[in-house]
Amino acid sequence: MARYIGSVCRLCRRENLKMFLKGDRCYSDKCAFDRRSYPPGQHGQRRRGKISDYGIQLREKQKVKRMYGLSEKQFRLFFARADRKKGITGSNLLVMLETRLDNVVYRCGFVNSRTQGRHYVRHGHFLINGKKVNIPSYIVKVGDVIELREKSRKIQSIQDSLDAVVRRGVPQWIDLDKENLKGSVTAVPVREDLTMPMQEQLIVELYSK
Ligand code: SF4
Repeated sequence: MARYIGSVCRLCRRENLKMFLKGDRCYSDKCAFDRRSYPPGQHGQRRRGKISDYGIQLREKQKVKRMYGLSEKQFRLFFARADRKKGITGSNLLVMLETRLDNVVYRCGFVNSRTQGRHYVRHGHFLINGKKVNIPSYIVKVGDVIELREKSRKIQSIQDSLDAVVRRGVPQWIDLDKENLKGSVTAVPVREDLTMPMQEQLIVELYSK
């Protein structure tokens, strides 16, 4: 499936959740979800009928997939990997999504959205334990140190993102050294660390059909 290139605000409105996909704009009064919190499209304001169980499961999967900016194929692959791991598949899935490099640089505050994170990772702006890694789906491990390459440190948007990180905070499983532009993974995130409303069990049920 091709990457979605339409309006991302439309996705928030479709999933009925403020997913913070657009950086600074999400915190301003320009946020489309705050202004029009009904589904997009010509019939968006119509009263919604009863949704089937399948519909509820599908919407939950779409929401999480869109939140992390993955295509259907990538999401399926992550689910298959989560399913092969020991433990609860749904929690495994969310933890794996959370520890993707593009998400971790976003959580560290080096970028202001996961989309920007993916873009900067692909362009090789980050080092992990001193080595360049340009794979957005790379899964970070405890003890990994993520830092900006020397020549990337002066990028203005990175400085701006770091200034704004106070607003959304850094999760407790990351230790951010703002001065040296370094983030260390101190623990594997657990389900309780993920505060966005997600019902992973519905995704497991959908894919188990
Ligand atoms: Fe979603 Fe951000 Fe757009 Fe608001 S501004 S609708 S939170 S992507």
